[in-house]
Amino acid sequence: MSSPLPVIAVIGSLNVDFITRTTRVPAAGETLIAQSFDIGFGGKGSNQAVACARLSRPKPSSSSRNPGETGRPSPSVDVRMVGAVGSDPFAEGFLAGLRQDGVNVDAVRRLEGQKTGIANIIVEEGSGENRIMLAANANYALKAETLLPDDADVAVFQLEIPLEVVLHNINEAKRKGLEVILNPAPAVPLDAAVFKSLSHLIMNESEAAILSGMSDEEFGSADLDDIASNFLVRGVRNVIITLGAKGVYYHTSPWYAIRKPGTTLAAARATVVDTTAAGDTFVGAYAVAVAKARALDDFDVDAAVAFANRAAARTVERKGARAAVPWLDEVDRVAD
Ligand code: ADP
Repeated sequence: MSSPLPVIAVIGSLNVDFITRTTRVPAAGETLIAQSFDIGFGGKGSNQAVACARLSRPKPSSSSRNPGETGRPSPSVDVRMVGAVGSDPFAEGFLAGLRQDGVNVDAVRRLEGQKTGIANIIVEEGSGENRIMLAANANYALKAETLLPDDADVAVFQLEIPLEVVLHNINEAKRKGLEVILNPAPAVPLDAAVFKSLSHLIMNESEAAILSGMSDEEFGSADLDDIASNFLVRGVRNVIITLGAKGVYYHTSPWYAIRKPGTTLAAARATVVDTTAAGDTFVGAYAVAVAKARALDDFDVDAAVAFANRAAARTVERKGARAAVPWLDEVDRVAD
């Protein structure tokens, strides 16, 4: 397997989302009729792979949606999903959907006798609150072995597959000289040794608090430069903290400049409908910028963060997770 394009490998989860909307959550022992039900293909790994693929090419016209058909816009990166699904009927539809978005799924394992990961999501319409039960299934059957494609240039990780699988592959990716991006979600405290292998650490505020060993309250009154410095001194090259509607903070420095302040970029203007997958879009867009720059040996963190910030703003204007992820032309034509 070798590609003329820079290759992004996204090593992570694939979950089928069962989304039930209800006016209120049933009490114990109670049965309620739901307002609506939908099935979606998600998981942070899969969503970020979709974001990488869509943000590396313009949206195909409806007449050229089949892979390989002439007229399909050419991508600027090659996106590989790495993970596992089960041998149930969901798996094929899931992989077909990823292929249609331009994600290569050759490295997704189909595990015989396993079930695909399932997220049962109950949305209470009145409050807008989500309650999620995640059955990791095939995602947690992955073993701590090397899963990276040989020709990967950039490796993107989250924490929805076993931690030992993530850590093993981060080490491997570092050893092979890849650009390593970690989005530590859902967050758990991490051993300090991992940070020296990370080229880019992208997290939201609550994830940054957990990795910093702080409560949300302590984090709220902490100085972002101090938070970022803790990761920079441990070896992370670029620390990015997404701030929701407030935009994004980032700090990227050689060691001698760590005491300089980081940069905060305001969120791009958006009419908020649903913020689901904003973080996944941000990571995918940023990864595309890293991959393109690697091909040219010319990374501009300001441009990468600005692009990711604009892409994520488009996502909050649409309902759903994967359905909300924009294509490249939907980001670039928008002036902030
Ligand atoms: P997560 O979805 O992982 O919790 P955030 O809520 O921090 O992450 O959002 C990620 C990014 O999405 C932000 O840094 C910003 O670029 C964009 N974003 C989030 N909310 C808004 C908003 N209300 N308006 C514009 N952009 C937003």
